[in-house]
Order: sequence, then C-alpha cells, then structure tokens
Amino acid sequence: MKLIEPNDLGYYGEFGGAFVPELLLPNILELQNQYLIIMYETDFQETFQQLLTDYVGRPTPLYYAANLSKHYNTQIFLKREDLNHTGAHKINNAIGQALLAKRLGKTKIIAETGAGQHGVATATACALLGLECTVYMGAVDIKRQQPNVQRMQMLGAKVVAANSGSKTLKDATNEAIRAWIQEPESHYIIGSVVGPHPYPDMVARFQSVISKEIKKQLLQKIGNENPDYVIACVGGGSNAIGAFYHFVENTNTKLIAVEAAGYGVDSGKTAATLLKGTKGILHGSLSYLMQTPDGQIVEPHSVSAGLDYPGIGPIHAHLFEQQRMQVAAVTDEEALKAGFFLSQIEGIIPALETAHALAYLNHQTWKPNEVVVINLSGRGDKDLNTYQL
Ligand SMILES: *Cc1c(COP(=O)(O)O)cnc(C)c1O
Repeated sequence: MKLIEPNDLGYYGEFGGAFVPELLLPNILELQNQYLIIMYETDFQETFQQLLTDYVGRPTPLYYAANLSKHYNTQIFLKREDLNHTGAHKINNAIGQALLAKRLGKTKIIAETGAGQHGVATATACALLGLECTVYMGAVDIKRQQPNVQRMQMLGAKVVAANSGSKTLKDATNEAIRAWIQEPESHYIIGSVVGPHPYPDMVARFQSVISKEIKKQLLQKIGNENPDYVIACVGGGSNAIGAFYHFVENTNTKLIAVEAAGYGVDSGKTAATLLKGTKGILHGSLSYLMQTPDGQIVEPHSVSAGLDYPGIGPIHAHLFEQQRMQVAAVTDEEALKAGFFLSQIEGIIPALETAHALAYLNHQTWKPNEVVVINLSGRGDKDLNTYQL
C-alpha cells in the first residue's frame, strides 16, 4: 500500500477517517463514493487540465535561482506557484472541487478561509463556473485581511463573519460545517488536506499536479527527475503534499515540511502542530493537533495567517510517524528575514507562509552538487503590511 493513499475508510495508518455529525453523513458518503470516479473521467480530466493551462497559467515555471544557489553553495530550484492566477497554489484545488461539485449537480458552494487566500480562490472558481459562493471568515481575520475580503465581494461571493471562539480560521471552519449541515444541497470546498475522508485524498490529488510538473521539469533541466530535497511550508499541508506527492515512493528524495514556530516551538505561542501537538480529532479527522490535556484547542500563533491553524492533515501525521518526512520549525522572525532576503536576492516577494520554507535553508549545510526544490507556494503582495511593521 502506498504511503500517500488512504484505505477504504480514509485512514493513513492510524490517522484520518471521517468523524462527522450524522446529518452530514449523506453528503460525505456521496463524495466518498463519487470523487475518484468523477476525477478520473476523461471528460473531467480534460476540462480540469484545460482550465489549469489556460486559466490558472500552468505549468508554473521551475526556476533555477542562481543567486540564491550561489549564496547557499548548492542548486536551488523554486517551483513558482506564486505565478498562478490569484497568486498561490490554492486555485488548483478550488477549481478542481468546484468542477467536481458541478458534476454532483450542486449549485451552491460553502468555504472557510483564514487569510482569505482560499476564499479568493474559491470565489474565483465560483465566478468562473457560475456557482453561488458563501465564504465563512473569522471576524478578526476580516479586519486584518481587508483586501482579500474586498476581492471576494467583487468576485460575487458573500463573506460571513464567524464570531465564535477566537474569531479566526478554526471558528470559520466550524461555522462552515454548521452551514453545510443546514444546506446539504451545497458542496463544501475545504482549502487544505484536512477534514473528513475523502477531503485529504481529494485535495492531495488536485494539488499533486505540482510534483508531477516538478519531475518533468527537472528531467528537462538536469536529466534527473528526482531532487535530493523538496522543501515546503505546512499549515494544513496542501502545498506540501502537492509538492511531495510523486516523490513519496522514492526515498532518495528527502521531504522537509516546515511548520510555523511562531515565537518559538516552546514559547506557548506557536503553530508547530506536528512538533508540539498530540493526537486527537479536529474538523472530521484524526491527526495531530494543539490541545490541552483535556482536549480543548490551544490557540495557535504564527505571523502568517495561512499557517495559523491548530491542526494538520492526516497524511502528514502518517508520513511523519513513518519517518518518510522530516519536520522543522521556523520562527516569525526567521520567516520575515527570509522574505526580505528572497525579495532582494532574486526579485521575488514570497508569501509569509512560503518564507518559512525559505528560512529552512539556514537550518542545514548544503553540498554543491545537491538539488533542492522549494515550493514557492504564493506571492507576498497580501503580506506587505506585515513585512513592513
Ligand atoms: C494557505 C497557504 C499556505 C498554507 O496552506 P497549506 O494547505 O499548508 O498549503 C501556504 N502558502 C500559501 C501561499 C497559502 O496561501
């Protein structure tokens, strides 16, 4: 059995599953029964590929970063997901799921968003495909991410404030799930490889186009499709799984997932879920999460809104326990520095999330002949205010 694929019940080893309220069971079972059939229909594949090419702008370049490579005395390639339409990898999944929802006969879409990136990607896909779109967003995030709120509204989506708990991403997710229970005729587009089965597998498959392209591009550029390292930041884990997917079975390629340490892994103000979390159930699946000994969620902290989530996908929990993936953590301060450094050495302003992956370059010494691929998950325009504090 491949490490990256779940069993019939949606488990990766002991992680995953589908822990949902009874009222959601019909929707989840419908998805479980249909998603692979629909995703691998020729017609669906053709439409999806066409949109990825002509609308999203794929394949995204695999850029040999000569200046960065010289600085670290190794060979660094950047997978430019920042050049996708809407500025990050999230659109790959949003378009895939919106297409799938249409095949299921759905007309309405529900989504949650933290920084607003997934909300914007979903609102975009819905505008394109003529679907009604409601996005749940924490009231605190609505305040600190105004430009993305305005984008979603301009795209025709309704943005609903989540006023419970910490008024951030996990609360928006709770509200979105509640709305889905009340409107079972809608489809819920989850933005990462989290949630009940089949979401982690479905989102991973939609994002796996990233590693599929990396292989092809590396083969063209260096005559070998397998790098020594693939490095990606992890919030819920979708850009990382997308970049790792087709390398998981090849153990010569080291996979490094970079979590947000916040003020530091042991500071109590962190979002390093795999390093600091414990096993439990959140948003429909069993994985690692940040919780008190009696199971209350501990508020995570990261300077980057996209990594500020108390959970992590079950696939990552499994790859971590199987020691197929290494986990590192980068602090707010290191990430901010790495964001400035890439901007000034390569002329690319990365998203703050992505800056965590870049900062990892300082955590290890590299050899001149090593090939290192970093997934540049998104662009940093949305983060200028934070960068400039
Ligand atoms: C949302 C986001 C992330 C974190 O989400 P994952 O599911 O872990 O990929 C990382 N980078 C960017 C640019 C994002 O928008």
